[in-house]
Amino acid sequence: MLAGVAPPARTSRRMSRYSALALVRNAFSGHKDWTPAWRDPAPKQRYDVVIVGGGGHGLATAYYLAKLHGITNVAVLEKGWLGGGNTGRNTTIVRSNYLLDGNAPFYEHSLKLWEGLSADLNYNVMFSQRGVLNLAHSDSQVDAYARRGNAMRLNGIDSDLLDREGVRRFCPELAFDDARFPIYGGLLQRRGGTARHDAVAWGLARGADSLGVDLIQNCEVTGIRREGDRVVGVETSRGFIACGKLGLAVAGNTGRLGAMAGLRLPIESHVLQAFVSEGLKPLVDHVITFGAGHFYISQSDKGGLVFGGDLDGYNSYAQRGNLPVIEEVVSIGISMMPCISRTRLLRHWGGVMDMTMDGSPIIGKTPLANLYLNGGWCYGGFKATPGSGWVFAWTIANDRPHELNAKLDLDRFRAGRMVDESGHGPQPNLH
Ligand SMILES: Cc1cc2nc3c(=O)[nH]c(=O)nc-3n(C[C@H](O)[C@H](O)[C@H](O)COP(=O)(O)OP(=O)(O)OC[C@H]3O[C@@H](n4cnc5c(N)ncnc54)[C@H](O)[C@@H]3O)c2cc1C
Repeated sequence: MLAGVAPPARTSRRMSRYSALALVRNAFSGHKDWTPAWRDPAPKQRYDVVIVGGGGHGLATAYYLAKLHGITNVAVLEKGWLGGGNTGRNTTIVRSNYLLDGNAPFYEHSLKLWEGLSADLNYNVMFSQRGVLNLAHSDSQVDAYARRGNAMRLNGIDSDLLDREGVRRFCPELAFDDARFPIYGGLLQRRGGTARHDAVAWGLARGADSLGVDLIQNCEVTGIRREGDRVVGVETSRGFIACGKLGLAVAGNTGRLGAMAGLRLPIESHVLQAFVSEGLKPLVDHVITFGAGHFYISQSDKGGLVFGGDLDGYNSYAQRGNLPVIEEVVSIGISMMPCISRTRLLRHWGGVMDMTMDGSPIIGKTPLANLYLNGGWCYGGFKATPGSGWVFAWTIANDRPHELNAKLDLDRFRAGRMVDESGHGPQPNLH
């Protein structure tokens, strides 16, 4: 039975529990007795639920379907390797500093799940609540942040409006004497921070697998088979797989998968780049975002500065970007923190973003009775990973949206109920 919330499922296979004691015990046997973190099963002919996309969102959905709803005859189909999409390519900023009703409670729910995720999964996702600070460079920007901060507090979300001296105490390394972009203050969410992207995917994969979910890698979905307004299964590079319900969680490929089901979705795919520098001694203790251009930065535990900026500005499915954006991002970064100007850039890479017309995600039902959609994350979906999986699992299990994702439905684009957080209108590349 698919509907309803069942008691938490019990672990269905033997899995080593990670602990200090287990580490010591395994040290005595040369670390040869650890069980693999997940199995590598052959696909079955049919599943109650098939999730396409083995990124954080697809894996979290499968994990919560099994754990909270008792639905364990589930497969996650991934065309490459688990976490190899945007989950493994992002700059890992986690926050819930949203203004609008459709977004704020949802992202705060997700942040609360982050706070207990390592313990829940028995896997250290290295969630670090180091604080996320958005800089303001004008009076009007301070006003806008005061409004956002007040809205957050009304929604029960932590926020602190800092003046210039407050910012200086928090981040002394910034350029306070810059004549073009003077710092007027900033909005700080102390509970925000970063997490380790790979660990999130691996921890969720291990958790889902231990509850009986089949994680099938190197399995590309090439078609969606329909009978009338129902999906009956998916064509894959490993043969046809039948399903009772189908969930899509394929980020930048959402438009393509939607088209396979006969749906034209309000999503454009764009490329977004990220950058990492050589390792430095501790310099940036927080996540900082520039307010006069698109730039954000944090420092990884290995010491690399991790930063990014704007989209490349054209539609693309290529997981790589172009030089003009590198120049722009680096020059903004140096305006904000001149002390990094001599730092060597180590790597940069790109991911394919599923940009919606209002900049907010889509999690819910579709015009097809048993097809569910999770996409349109733009470049902010990593922070949503546990919350997204939680509400998507609830929606699939109960065949209706949870109140947390009710306003993030697909039908809002037909009905004109936009959740336009940035106020840019139907211009996906500007959100
Ligand atoms: C450079 C960059 C920086 C970012 N920074 C942040 C940030 O700081 N904070 C934040 O919150 N978000 C950020 N994001 C966004 C975030 O990474 C994504 O929104 C989020 O990871 C999406 O997760 P997902 O599981 O939906 O997608 P993915 O991790 O991309 O997973 C989707 C999976 O679907 C698979 N797939 C696609 N098509 C098929 C098919 N036909 N068959 C089978 N499998 C298929 C893909 O291979 C992929 O593994 C950033 C993204 C990028 C690229």
